[in-house]
Amino acid sequence: APRVGVLALQGDFREHRQVLESLGADTVAVRRETDLAGIDGLVIPGGESTVIDKLSRAFGVADPIKAAISGGLPVYGTCAGLIMVADRILDGAVTQQSFGGLDVSVRRNAFGSQTESFETALAIPVLGEHPMRAVFIRAPIVVETGPGVSVLASLVDGTIVAVEQANIIATSFHPEVTDDYRLHRYFLDRVRQRMLAR
Ligand code: GLN
Repeated sequence: APRVGVLALQGDFREHRQVLESLGADTVAVRRETDLAGIDGLVIPGGESTVIDKLSRAFGVADPIKAAISGGLPVYGTCAGLIMVADRILDGAVTQQSFGGLDVSVRRNAFGSQTESFETALAIPVLGEHPMRAVFIRAPIVVETGPGVSVLASLVDGTIVAVEQANIIATSFHPEVTDDYRLHRYFLDRVRQRMLAR
């Protein structure tokens, strides 16, 4: 079974672990560099990106994660996890850092305080015809994509909310809080493909 690390410093890492385990993966809570040994993929959960940034640097796991991402480790980031894999955070504090790897600019809390959270039926063509129930919680959006980035889903107004580039998948929303696990399956397919290729 694939062994998937879930960054477990802050945020809803428990929900991701439950989903991945229910799909047959073994999961590992990642808090330190040594937890990265032997993992086949990494999930970066939603939560608060400023906190995940600070804790990951304090725990010495930020640089090893950056190296793993540039080494091709399959990674899936949701919400704050999208911010953490983005190369550019438009409105972050000057001190806020990300692991990077995904050639996009993101805007944090992009739906404003009037819409803290909302749900919508979202078409994601790579997952089939059936739209996904997408839950957005103080969500970031992707405002600019580099040439290597594929858009997996946009809102009806064109706002980009799911992307993929090489080994990285990232979504503005939280599939781990619904019972539709197609994005986790899609990620695990990528993880298995890389396991077979090695
Ligand atoms: N607003 C949060 C941030 O900027 C993300 C919210 C979430 O992950 N649900 O990190």
